[in-house]
Amino acid sequence: MVELSNFAEEFLDEILEILWVKLEEGGKESVSREEIVVGSSPVHEESISVLERRGLIKVDGEQIRLTDSGFEEARRTIRRHRLSERMFLDIFEITEEEIEEVACRFEHMLIRPELEEKICELLGHPRMCPHDRPIPVGECCHRAQTRVDQMVVPMSNLRQGESGAIAYVHTGDSERLKKLMALGILPGESVTLQRRFPSFVFTVGQSRYAVDEGMAEAIYVKRTDPAAGKAL
Ligand SMILES: [Zn+2]
Ligand SMILES: [Zn+2]
Repeated sequence: MVELSNFAEEFLDEILEILWVKLEEGGKESVSREEIVVGSSPVHEESISVLERRGLIKVDGEQIRLTDSGFEEARRTIRRHRLSERMFLDIFEITEEEIEEVACRFEHMLIRPELEEKICELLGHPRMCPHDRPIPVGECCHRAQTRVDQMVVPMSNLRQGESGAIAYVHTGDSERLKKLMALGILPGESVTLQRRFPSFVFTVGQSRYAVDEGMAEAIYVKRTDPAAGKAL
């Protein structure tokens, strides 16, 4: 059982997330009070006034907007939520139906920035959540992008003979994803690309697979040595 105070904070985060999705991704100017529904609960006046007192939202009659600091706070909350989803799907193999609930709880544990960055790094700075919505970038993602040789790349970008560990699988298609996972193509497994043509042939442990380019693009690999791939 969570304490009431924690619960209230989580509730406020959910409101910020709803506002961000409607304003930023839905392209709305403002959101009316009745559009904000957390789970099946209507949003209490109290929650709205707490957010207003903290300077995160502006209330104008029935209409609600995020302030600049509210936008930033909501962006970080969305980031934690979508990173959590990615983690549960890619690492813990939680089903897509269960993800929403566990992610909503776990995201609050990522409030410590160093933990958030570690998870992001572990997942290879993913760009999309399992629902194919963009994950707002963090400092760690910028740092990773400025490196000359990216650490995590689609398998289709590996050189022949290059090895690494599977970081995550991004298909945007859950059937495809399940198929890959059922084959044992899981985050953390070491992988070596043996051939690029006519199909992508690679080994995971003792098993050998051949996939088309689309599949090879969906498997993200953390390279063992980005600067110098050794040839077989
Ligand atoms: Zn999502
Ligand atoms: Zn990152």
